[in-house]
Amino acid sequence: MEFSTIKKTLGIVALSLVSLSGMAQDIIARQAPSDKRLKDIHNVKLNNTAALSADLNDPAANIYTDWTDNIRSCTGVVPSNYKIDLRGFCMPTPSRKINSPFGPRWGRQHEGLDIKVYIGDTIRAAFDGKVRICKYNGGGYGYYIVIRHPNGLETLYGHLSKQIVKKDQIVRAGEPIGLGGNTGKSNGSHLHFETRVLGQPINPALMFDFEHQDVTGDFFVLNNGISKGSVAKSSKK
Ligand SMILES: [Zn+2]
Repeated sequence: MEFSTIKKTLGIVALSLVSLSGMAQDIIARQAPSDKRLKDIHNVKLNNTAALSADLNDPAANIYTDWTDNIRSCTGVVPSNYKIDLRGFCMPTPSRKINSPFGPRWGRQHEGLDIKVYIGDTIRAAFDGKVRICKYNGGGYGYYIVIRHPNGLETLYGHLSKQIVKKDQIVRAGEPIGLGGNTGKSNGSHLHFETRVLGQPINPALMFDFEHQDVTGDFFVLNNGISKGSVAKSSKK
């Protein structure tokens, strides 16, 4: 008798959970990314710190053969089915609003995502890495930063009002690198965010889901390999 009462009560609780769909599910969904971030922090702590800092001095040396401050002139070889490790990520901004997606725009290719941020908002490094470029481009990115990461990815942050890192600086995932702004060719403050491999832009939305503040998976596989000018360099000796 008592047992069946409990069962009934449980049934009601379960039912009310289901009927709470709208708000409760939203709250659960919002909690998911932060749980994941916490897990990632633990994973980072487990890594061998000596090996990690060696890798940060020369990030992704397995595929890149140069270190210049030119955004497009990367040399190296990325094999096909190259697996990019997205664990240990940090969203560059808590903003969930995409102003403009990657792809063709006004007859040109928009090589990144435009995310709504306000002037002065903190912009953070997406992964551990080393700052390759810290420059100003008045007709384009404005104040911008490019970071190369040990997973082979390079991330670009444009239209900043202020850069707070320097070229060749080692940064950690989540470390503040700049402030949101409206510099360069920009209409209204936003973050122009790019992800590149060997200078080739890849749609950031394939890896970063800003709306849900999470990555799309633990790994992203780059199907087609990329090879740029590295054969001549490596065969010289
Ligand atoms: Zn843009």
